[in-house]
Amino acid sequence: MIITIDGPAGTGKSSVARTVAQRLGYDFLDTGAMYRAVALEALRRNADLEDARELGYIARLCRIEFDWTQQPPGVLLNGAPVGHALRSADVTRAASYVAVVPAIRQKLVEEQQRIGRQRPNLVTEGRDQGTVVFPDARCKIYLDATPEERARRRVAQLRARGEVVDYREILEQILSRDHRDSTRAVGPLAIPPDARVIDTTKMTEQQVVEEILRLVRAVQP
Ligand code: C5P
Repeated sequence: MIITIDGPAGTGKSSVARTVAQRLGYDFLDTGAMYRAVALEALRRNADLEDARELGYIARLCRIEFDWTQQPPGVLLNGAPVGHALRSADVTRAASYVAVVPAIRQKLVEEQQRIGRQRPNLVTEGRDQGTVVFPDARCKIYLDATPEERARRRVAQLRARGEVVDYREILEQILSRDHRDSTRAVGPLAIPPDARVIDTTKMTEQQVVEEILRLVRAVQP
């Protein structure tokens, strides 16, 4: 069974999806990591992020694989592990340029669908998983939260890592990412018509996980 979890940045999708996958004994696919891997390669090659053709060319040179023996699966870019490098602020920013290029989306969507065929018990997380990549998934979830709450969570996360951050700046970044995610021409962030929407604003991560497991049990044969 494929379970898709979509939603904007800062809703806790990654940690929730990872825990749900662990609890069910399913594989976990972080599709954002694939866009981030292409972004990392673009930065390494000093690419012009406004040049879609250049980004498309670079994406064709990227072989992105997962090491499924790790929990969560490790990301390999052209054979080398890149886990931590994908989380930097520069890569986050560059990924949102990469994610609007239709040719890159097409390539990554096809790879995600191939992974879905090879690993059919999958919890997959992103922006377009229930709408574009796995439209026939049995269980579709859309996580949401107010931008203010998402900014608050992000600030707490960064401060816990010892970074000095400004709440208003983070809120602005979240709003502009939301805008770019939901207005792009291909694979925009959207609620799949048959998804269950969970507003996580006032929920703990544990409550969100339990709610998703309840929904999964309800659709399991
Ligand atoms: O979820 P995460 O922050 O890791 O995503 C990184 C970037 O990839 C974001 O800019 C997001 O819009 C994009 N993305 C996407 N489609 C997905 C997953 C992520 O466009 N399925």
